[in-house]
Amino acid sequence: MSERRMTLAVPNKGRLVEPTLRLLHDAGLIFEERDRSLVSRVENVDLDVLFVRTNDVVEFVRDAVADLGITGADLLAESEVDLPVVRALGYGRCRLIAAVPDDAAPQRVEDLAGLRVATSHPRATRRWFGDRSIPVEVIPLSGAVEVAPRLGLAEAIVDLVSTGTTLATNGLRSIGDLLPSEAILVGNPAALDTRAMDVDRLTTMLGAVLEGRRRKYVMMNAPAERLGELEALLPGLASPSVIPLAHAGMIAIHAVVGADDVWALLPRLKSAGASGILVLPIEKLIA
Ligand code: AMP
Repeated sequence: MSERRMTLAVPNKGRLVEPTLRLLHDAGLIFEERDRSLVSRVENVDLDVLFVRTNDVVEFVRDAVADLGITGADLLAESEVDLPVVRALGYGRCRLIAAVPDDAAPQRVEDLAGLRVATSHPRATRRWFGDRSIPVEVIPLSGAVEVAPRLGLAEAIVDLVSTGTTLATNGLRSIGDLLPSEAILVGNPAALDTRAMDVDRLTTMLGAVLEGRRRKYVMMNAPAERLGELEALLPGLASPSVIPLAHAGMIAIHAVVGADDVWALLPRLKSAGASGILVLPIEKLIA
């Protein structure tokens, strides 16, 4: 085995760090973060985790310094590098939106024609407006985009938002979405080819964690004659497991349900005769 270990570039600072490390650890990769030194060796897999600036992940993967990388979809779009997205990771969700001061005239993105738009995503912004033939002057800024209108630098901004609180605090109002974003796993095309099996193993495990997080394992006891009613409430992954209990006429039912459904489901299960209902987290799920 002469092949070098696989390398995964991940952010070393900023809001994607914590959820990324949690995902990797939850997937079962054992490595130390220490001071997020440049490279961490994974103990149980032939993999090195390379800590780099979020903005540099795409370049590291493009240049094959890393085989895989985790970054934001917005940053891949901004880099204009054509890297394959191996899978979306479901966290770091935000949107690139266009916004104007509360009291400004524009109501829709089309109304920005002829105006200046400040953004730290100049390429993605130029492309988006260009594709729609809306002529805007893009003012590239590296930060503090939301204060640009107040400073007279631009009439509008294009910025990332998740809740919109920052917009509101800065007296801005959204007039349209340009691009949804979330954390993504990207791969170097050559590495995806030569290391297909290793990549597949890693993505299977990451996927298993992400699938598990979206679901719960529900266990309950019930009178056997209520099975039909309870089964109808449990459109899980497959049909639920039904186990006879020592007490005649009683069964245990185990099922996988959507995490978002639990709130509405439990009272209905109870009304349908279930008792001793337990809801358990699922660490990993491979359907
Ligand atoms: P950082 O600037 O290093 O904290 O990370 C910025 C990245 O986090 C962005 O490129 C997005 O992919 C992601 N992100 C998720 N939510 C937000 C948000 N509300 N504002 C800015 N970036 C976000």
